[in-house]
Amino acid sequence: MLTLDTKIEEIKKVGPAYLKKLHKLNIKTIRDLFFHFPHRYDDFSQTTPISQLKEGQKATIEAKIVEIKNTRLYHKRMTLTDALVKDNSGTIKVVWFNQPYLADTLKKGKLVNLSGKLTFSKNILCLSNPVYELSQGETVHTGRLVPIYPTTEGLTSRYIRYIIKPLLNLTNQIIDFLPDEIKKKSKLLNLDEAIKEIHFPDNLSLAQKARQRLGFDELFLIQLTTLRQKQKLSHEKAIPISFNQPLVKSFVKSLPFKLTNDQRLAAWEIFQDLNKDQPMNRLLNGDVGSGKTIVACMAGLEVAQAGYQVALMAPTEILAKQHFQSFQNLLKKQKLKIALLTGASKNKTQIKKQITDGKTDIVIGTHALIQENISFKNLSLAIIDEQHRFGIAQRAALQKKIYSIEDGLPTTPHLLSMTATPIPRTLALTIYGDLDISLIQELPKGRKKIITKIVTPTNRKKSYDFIRKQIENKKQAFVICPLIDESEKLEIKSVTQEYEKLSQEIFPQFRIAMLHGKLKPKEKEEIMDKFQKRKIDILVSTSVVEVGVDIPKATVMIIEGADRFGLSQLHQFRGRIGRDIHQSYCYLFTDSNTQKTNQRLKAILTAKDGFELAEKDLKIRGAGDFIGTRQWGLPDLAMASLDDLNLIKKSRQAAQEVLDKKLINSELENKLKNFQQNIHLE
Ligand code: ADP
Ligand code: MG
Repeated sequence: MLTLDTKIEEIKKVGPAYLKKLHKLNIKTIRDLFFHFPHRYDDFSQTTPISQLKEGQKATIEAKIVEIKNTRLYHKRMTLTDALVKDNSGTIKVVWFNQPYLADTLKKGKLVNLSGKLTFSKNILCLSNPVYELSQGETVHTGRLVPIYPTTEGLTSRYIRYIIKPLLNLTNQIIDFLPDEIKKKSKLLNLDEAIKEIHFPDNLSLAQKARQRLGFDELFLIQLTTLRQKQKLSHEKAIPISFNQPLVKSFVKSLPFKLTNDQRLAAWEIFQDLNKDQPMNRLLNGDVGSGKTIVACMAGLEVAQAGYQVALMAPTEILAKQHFQSFQNLLKKQKLKIALLTGASKNKTQIKKQITDGKTDIVIGTHALIQENISFKNLSLAIIDEQHRFGIAQRAALQKKIYSIEDGLPTTPHLLSMTATPIPRTLALTIYGDLDISLIQELPKGRKKIITKIVTPTNRKKSYDFIRKQIENKKQAFVICPLIDESEKLEIKSVTQEYEKLSQEIFPQFRIAMLHGKLKPKEKEEIMDKFQKRKIDILVSTSVVEVGVDIPKATVMIIEGADRFGLSQLHQFRGRIGRDIHQSYCYLFTDSNTQKTNQRLKAILTAKDGFELAEKDLKIRGAGDFIGTRQWGLPDLAMASLDDLNLIKKSRQAAQEVLDKKLINSELENKLKNFQQNIHLE
């Protein structure tokens, strides 16, 4: 008997070749198949009389084959199948490419459904490459809303439809994990209905409802996970650090600038959290250059002066070093021992021993902080910079428990995460449901707005001339090369080509260097170091340069293939310049001339800050393109649902209610477990 757990190889229609391809789509059981949702539908639900067909239209006809034949087109190396079909209203020509077997399947005299697009070929209106189905009983591929699935090479939507349709009666085995009262309140379909309707909906409104139910589920499960996490954390103990007003006041007074209001507010929120005997779990979210480091430093100062240890983890050596220098600088009047620990540190054993002995108050480092198996004497504050660069497990690893000397009970360090990725509210609510968030939206005063221009191929030369003048005036420039999906090799090739072009043809008189992910950390470090010291004029780089390195004299940035990046990402790159009193310029080079791309890029020129761009990105490209979101491994439907604020609110309320009323049954518990294994929130 077939059940939801039946392996797909046990279905007769699935042979070894298809099995491999289905596995590639992560489909192993019938249940997996049910949860492989179509991403859209072709609406072939109405049949149109042949006499009413128009060019450009997508239509379904029901007609009889009058004649059908194959022709080999030797010069094009393809087979053309053309047919003449007829219904009561008229006749039309049909053509297919490279499917010669059709002439055997669709024989003269057969009644067929054909769905496809109407085009003109040699001045004759014809139906080209239509989906076909012999007319007999209920249709699967034509004459209805036809599901189109995410597929892989050699596997068609048609094949997926062909195997799913006959199995759909098994949906009655699906047990709904959502408590009834939640379903009723949120007006949701039952799970079995939703599964049926998402695959083969009777009409678009039912398809919509099915999507809603299934999207709700994903959001609900994410939020239940994060809210539960929050609840768990609230039962843990932390060391309360009381607010030391004189210390903070004198520190702020010693700064060469005034804090912005947002910086003040964020610091205040952090001090309040630190004061509690539950661990803080706060995200400091501020645009590039908004001054998050100072805020983190204030928190570090307070904890260290109270006699507890602080650890700050950054994603790269360069950044860790930069933070180390800033902290040393900012805290030079304090009697605190600050250490730097990275993979490249030479005297690791000694540094580690000093941390264990409590001689080090603040340690700043890279992944080494969690890889080196350090035991802290009394770590009470863990800070993570550019937190989206770390996985959840890595973040948790830094927040190691310590055992208090007085009563031997475990306490959990307070956690402050920082990110410069502006996260739209809806996304933050969902993904970071377990975090409290402090926003820094206001930039420090006196920063000049970066002049940003979209440059099409015809204006390239003018921009190069301008850059030449800037560099002659002792400024520096970044050149960012296009993003090449998932291929580091190609990316390096493109950087190398760009480097050669610039250093040989365009700017032979300047000192140019290149930076990419394959370089050893030490090499990267050396290059950044030289760039910082102005021994390099132009730095050609892949997106590795994205994270917050400070190069004050860099006033120009070129972004090649700008249309391939998300708006938020472009904004992040641009944040590398304009850190100085001098006017800075950002050139977005694009070869794309489509209106859509240009409109999207124009948003960069008009948006008031990164948050506005993030919202736009979410609307235009969906959550999937957010830096970092890919790594969560969220299902596509969850991604798609993230721009539905209403659904997010509803699912959040439901998750809270389920927690409060303790409605988690064993079904739901199981579902949660599975869900959490597949995503990486925990
Ligand atoms: P980010 O938020 O991107 O990490 P940083 O903390 O690196 O930004 O700050 C960027 C620069 O702005 C630093 O050089 C810092 O000294 C400076 N800065 C921070 N706060 C202020 C302020 N209130 N006024 C002026 N400059 C500031
Ligand atoms: Mg920073």
